[in-house]
Amino acid sequence: MLTVMKFGGSSVADLAHIRNVAQRCIEKQQAGSQVVVVLSAMGKTTDGLIATAKQITEKPSRREMDMLLATGEQVSVSLMAITMIQMGVSAVSLNAWQIPMHTTSDYQNARFKRIDTERIRKELDDNKIVIVTGFQGINRYDDMTTLGRGGSDYTAAIIAAALDADALEIWTDVDGFMTADPRVISTAYTINELSYVEATELCNFGAKVVYPPTIYPVCHKNIPIIIKNTFNPEGAGTVIKQEVSSPQSKAIKGISSINDTSLITVQGLGMVGVIGVNYRIFKALAKNGISVFLVSQASSENSTSIGVRNADADLACEVLNEEFAKEIEMGEISPIQAEKDLATVAIVGENMKHTPGIAGKLFGTLGRNGISVIACAQGASETNISFV
Ligand code: ASP
Ligand code: MG
Repeated sequence: MLTVMKFGGSSVADLAHIRNVAQRCIEKQQAGSQVVVVLSAMGKTTDGLIATAKQITEKPSRREMDMLLATGEQVSVSLMAITMIQMGVSAVSLNAWQIPMHTTSDYQNARFKRIDTERIRKELDDNKIVIVTGFQGINRYDDMTTLGRGGSDYTAAIIAAALDADALEIWTDVDGFMTADPRVISTAYTINELSYVEATELCNFGAKVVYPPTIYPVCHKNIPIIIKNTFNPEGAGTVIKQEVSSPQSKAIKGISSINDTSLITVQGLGMVGVIGVNYRIFKALAKNGISVFLVSQASSENSTSIGVRNADADLACEVLNEEFAKEIEMGEISPIQAEKDLATVAIVGENMKHTPGIAGKLFGTLGRNGISVIACAQGASETNISFV
């Protein structure tokens, strides 16, 4: 039995919390499991390091920023090892260099390429609890890199997959995935079971429980993810796995939403039947690093609507107006504008596939409440209906 346990910044905020976490990991080992622990930096350390660097200059070198940010996790892992050893258990801390964990070269936004497991396995075979830095790696220049903010979950998933772990436990400061944002819906409650697909849909879309790239590596190996609250360990948490006990399970598992979204519509009678309009829209947006989270095109083909973040909306209009300048001049396509400050909501559940009438109920409810839907999309996977 091998368990990877990941603890977030608030779970290791100070020495008292670190002792608490150490105790939990030791109990896991005593229950007969090998234990690999992945940690975030203590509390708000990473924010603090960024703020300090910005006092020197607005635009610090990205390489040097990663050199700096990688220190946060080295502090928490070494203090954890010191604590465990003091508690009479053998433990060792390792950073990205020592393992090593190879990533792409992009500083502050690296992706994992490959991780060597030899060193971790050797330490586990020596009966040690192995404590690994989250959030960091090394690139092909042998320089430190970091993942996107919150990326320690992703490190834990990569390690769990590489070691063929039996479970990945993510210990955080919330009870798990909720049916909706509790700040908006006071009756929201914790969802006890989700499939990998449902969890991916929810965390791609506003639910900030785990870092989105976390799910894929473990899903691939069919390793369950168990989300638990460090501050409420008795709570059931959320289990994410392949097969969720189906019969009683509900068609809709959760609702998530993001504000600050804009809808951009490319429309014009001159688009009908013309091949390559969508290709040009997505090529122009991709070239400028703009990510699109919703697309909808009706079969008449005279308009394509795309959902983007408010922050990307002006640039998106600019590049699209440039891309289609000729067509706009000829009157084939209308000048492209963004409708800003909209909310995008998604309802998610794998059992929607087998349940007719969900969309009818959804749009009926919105209609009765005087909410008009500007655009909507449902993929053929039928696990998510999103609307603006
Ligand atoms: N310490 C990093 C951050 O605050 C990584 C993490 O916490 O997952 O973003
Ligand atoms: Mg953090």
